[in-house]
Amino acid sequence: MATVVDIDLMADVQKFGAADVNACFSCGNCTALCPLADNDATFPRRIIRYAQVGLTDELLGSKELWTCYHCGLCSESCPTEADPGEFMAAARRYAIASYEPTGLARVLYTKPVIGTIIAVVVALFFAGFMLSQAQLGGIDAPRLALFDFVSNDLIHWMGIVVMALMFLAGAWGVVRMVRAIGKRDGVTLKDTFGSGAAWTRTVRALWDSVGVESLGQKRFRDDCHDEQVVEPLWRRRWLVHALTIWGFLMLFAATLIDYGLELLGIKETGTPIPIWYPSRALGTVGGLALMYGVTVFMLGRWKRWSTSQATSQSSDWLLLTLLWLTGFTGFVIEVALYVTTPPVWGYWFFLVHVAIAMELLLMLPFTKFAHVMYRPVALFFYSLSQQKHATAA
Ligand code: SF4
Ligand code: SF4
Repeated sequence: MATVVDIDLMADVQKFGAADVNACFSCGNCTALCPLADNDATFPRRIIRYAQVGLTDELLGSKELWTCYHCGLCSESCPTEADPGEFMAAARRYAIASYEPTGLARVLYTKPVIGTIIAVVVALFFAGFMLSQAQLGGIDAPRLALFDFVSNDLIHWMGIVVMALMFLAGAWGVVRMVRAIGKRDGVTLKDTFGSGAAWTRTVRALWDSVGVESLGQKRFRDDCHDEQVVEPLWRRRWLVHALTIWGFLMLFAATLIDYGLELLGIKETGTPIPIWYPSRALGTVGGLALMYGVTVFMLGRWKRWSTSQATSQSSDWLLLTLLWLTGFTGFVIEVALYVTTPPVWGYWFFLVHVAIAMELLLMLPFTKFAHVMYRPVALFFYSLSQQKHATAA
């Protein structure tokens, strides 16, 4: 099959960041130093080369792109200051924009002002829609219970529609990514499910990708060792990243448990419960972990604590801001829930919280948040190829 060369690829990737990468002359220093290069003797230099020579399919089918945790070691040692770590981040943004079908991610990444306006409009849309259905009269005495201000049914149905849209857009992007990686690596369905041995490899790759790496952060924790020596524990990126992930998942689980209890007729959403009630305790711990992680990430980017935090894009701030606002407003609501008479400010924080949480989920496939879908998929294929190497050796 003929190889398609896109002479504009490098210029296009540079719209997503990585302004200095043209200075790269393929010396290989970054490959020698990258703690995650493994037995791939050309990572990350080869990915830069794909962009330089216009191999779009190779670039988009590179699972290795997602194994990089942007430690910045390669950038610190690059003799031409081509900033390969930032190039890898820019290439991931480019990949997210290329996998999703609407073009929205490209706008969010490459046009910060328009992207910010879109983010504000989406939040206002959700808030305005809920406000149009809210029981405003109930804010005056006698006060409504907080969860009666906007009806539970409305929030539940909005959540279901938002999740369905998110799932459709996300699945579309993931299928495109899987096809790109499968084509580049020559992985077929038979390789993955065609025999008992193939199933064993597949189950192992799933565990490596989701359990060991995405939740356990193993390589981030163990292999990005240079950073671990330099940074104090409280701001080590693997720990801050892990707390952010675990916190978000705990909050999501608490929301699902609450919904499940309502469906089973055990507890209606909004029923007064003590702080140690399982879903409330899970949500509180998760919220603390999320707030800690996101706040430290924001401080790191603001203060430029490390090479990887020296350059920030509007997309980095958009995701951090949405996550922080979701966590903060969630805690304000929790305080309002334990006040005997719901305070008026509680209603408005409730509205903002739900609007931003909906926006966060709806825009997941288009923002930096999309890496929660794409990285595990790439790590799955990475584990498969590592197992193949090990068998062949
Ligand atoms: S990015 Fe820098 S270190 Fe890496 S190959 Fe290019 S010039 Fe060498
Ligand atoms: S940023 Fe770190 S993990 Fe990523 S390519 Fe450079 S050295 Fe490797």
